[in-house]
Amino acid sequence: MSLLLPAPDGFARLENLIDGKRCPALSLERLASVDPSIGETWAEIPSSGSDDIAAAVDAAKRAFSGAWSDLPALGRAGLLRNLAGLFADHASELARIESRDNGRALAETSAGDLPAVTQILHYFAGAADKLMGDTVQVSPASFNFTVVEAVGVVGIIIPWNAPLSILAAKVGAALAAGCTVVVKPAEQASCSILAAAELFEHAGFPPGVVNIVSGLGSTAGDSLVRHPDVRKISFTGSTATARRITAASADSLTQLAFELGGKSANIVFADADLDAAELGVSTASVFTGGAGQTCVAGSRILIERPIYEEMVERIARRASEVRIGDPMDLETQMGPIAFDRQYDKVRDYIALGSQEGAEIAFGGRSGEALMGAGSPHAGGYFVEPTFFRDARNDMRICREEIFGPVASAIPFDTEEEAVALANDSSYGLACGVWTSDLKRAHRAIAAVKTGVVWVNAYRRIHWALPFGGVKESGYGRDSGLESLRGYLHTKTAWIEL
Ligand code: NAP
Ligand code: MG
Repeated sequence: MSLLLPAPDGFARLENLIDGKRCPALSLERLASVDPSIGETWAEIPSSGSDDIAAAVDAAKRAFSGAWSDLPALGRAGLLRNLAGLFADHASELARIESRDNGRALAETSAGDLPAVTQILHYFAGAADKLMGDTVQVSPASFNFTVVEAVGVVGIIIPWNAPLSILAAKVGAALAAGCTVVVKPAEQASCSILAAAELFEHAGFPPGVVNIVSGLGSTAGDSLVRHPDVRKISFTGSTATARRITAASADSLTQLAFELGGKSANIVFADADLDAAELGVSTASVFTGGAGQTCVAGSRILIERPIYEEMVERIARRASEVRIGDPMDLETQMGPIAFDRQYDKVRDYIALGSQEGAEIAFGGRSGEALMGAGSPHAGGYFVEPTFFRDARNDMRICREEIFGPVASAIPFDTEEEAVALANDSSYGLACGVWTSDLKRAHRAIAAVKTGVVWVNAYRRIHWALPFGGVKESGYGRDSGLESLRGYLHTKTAWIEL
């Protein structure tokens, strides 16, 4: 079974999944999905509106009170295991679809994301029958206990940088908890999720349990948020959109969970293993397969003064060694930016960094100047890994999320100063600490105001560990058993004895 069938005009044409049926938008309108490595349309997706969302929510609501709710927890687990197996069977095709659609290097989607999707689904399958309430001893005259219940229909809104792994974490937890879902993928990278719709059907989920509806955020996304029958919105994306969602949910009082952006610091102390740190703060953190379009990008590299010049040189060399090119080539380490507007935004920030007085230690080129006029990728959205030295934390390139392969080095003199710089951000997603001093590592873990801290590692994400931020990086957690709580409410029972 192939998940993608090209239409006669050569474009792949994908459909929504609503109530167990594959269908176009009711308006029949479509959006072009661009291959960012060449800047040309390669697929078409439904441009759905509020009527499509209404049909999907209606199906999810009916499914929630139908056969799905009668299924024992192990039944939900079994379906999730079927789904995990189908994702494993189709991993290589789905990785190729995702890399083609959002430009993320196939080396990452095939070796990282898709194997993780299978594991995430198995993890939540294992969790489905371990949802528990408490008994609470209030008085000998009463028996008091709690039960946890699925919240109902969940709206899941997904960004373009890692569609399938974010889908798996959110949908896996929601289904394990017993919810039904309506998924709205990002307009720039919906294809892998729409292609995977097929797998939900084959896994045996009853119609309406999982619905997938593509379209614009301002129409399809907004009507999902406003729908009175949606009990929860789980969103990954930008802080600006999270603010719009918060305002739009005022009437429905829908519960919200937000995984948002970051401006994460990677702190390198002079006592660190510099070989490990050099890789950890560059290729593993921000000069990635997704061209730095990762919410945890360590875009502020704080370096202790005695090793500052040496580390700047090492990071610049790492940046110069990144193999940029066709994301479908397994030798490629970094693909293009996912779409044109984001490409322009990243290039504007690179220009801004120089205007603000930071110095480019490596990089700065993009597009044809980078790929060569004769290259098949001259029209693609490629940006060179770009590394600014001698930046200050008050510069806009150090305060605003760039979401591209751009990092800035800032020197520091003391541990207190490093922690203060790391925390001097409106965001609070992640922080990296590079040190061989165990006491310092513990002090830093306690002192940094972020949802995730790595010591002598970076960007290590695992389905068993809760993931999310504080401050303007959002609230609520994906992954780990904790994420299940977000799809459950607690009912308290009191029996008078
Ligand atoms: P975005 O513009 O916020 O889009 C995310 C999703 O929200 C898309 O599906 C988008 O649809 C939809 N959307 C847009 N406006 C909406 C509205 N008014 N109501 C409902 N939905 C709406 O973010 P992005 O630019 O795609 O993603 C990049 C951002 O996400 C970065 O800031 C990054 O840090 C963050 N991110 C965070 C994490 C994390 O785990 N914390 C992970 C990945 C990305 P359309 O695209 O169709 O408009
Ligand atoms: Mg695309």
